[in-house]
Amino acid sequence: MVTGKDTGYSGTGRPSARRMESGPVAVIECIEEIPCNPCEGACPVGAIQVGQPLTNLPKLSEHKCTGCGICIAACPGLAIFNIDLSRGDETAIVAMPYEYLPLPKEGAAVTVTDRDGQPVGRGLVHSVKRMEKYDNTAIVSVEVKKELADIVRSIKEGEDGTEETNLPLRRDY
Ligand code: SF4
Ligand code: SF4
Repeated sequence: MVTGKDTGYSGTGRPSARRMESGPVAVIECIEEIPCNPCEGACPVGAIQVGQPLTNLPKLSEHKCTGCGICIAACPGLAIFNIDLSRGDETAIVAMPYEYLPLPKEGAAVTVTDRDGQPVGRGLVHSVKRMEKYDNTAIVSVEVKKELADIVRSIKEGEDGTEETNLPLRRDY
């Protein structure tokens, strides 16, 4: 039996597959129970709840989340991503925090890596955004094959990393 008020927040920071298929949404992969809550204050629509004590892990209201990506840049732990499975083709967009220079260029082909930094495939840089308030952390969105959306969490520069192409038309990654 379900009791209590439905706050709209899930028990975790992870949205449902159905929500990801409807457009970009935050995926919060915060696992350290440390006193921290910038994500909660940064979200303009109140879609993240940490509450008290501050060691609570953040919860997400997937219905409130607009996928704006502000929390990606605001999280000092680099623990928040956006996933968009709504494109209607075989690709997905994964947005991630990025703190290296130079920033990748939109349209560049990159090597995409998993949570351990291991290469798992290729992707295309879809967009690169910087916010004045969080200018140390850019938001890099990468187009990847849909099956990689829950695996890709960074990109790799260097010999196997960014390189200019005639994208966005090329998709032979
Ligand atoms: S993506 Fe935007 S709306 Fe969604 S939780 Fe983050 S800051 Fe809030
Ligand atoms: S700002 Fe990042 S590290 Fe801090 S509670 Fe939120 S998700 Fe976790």
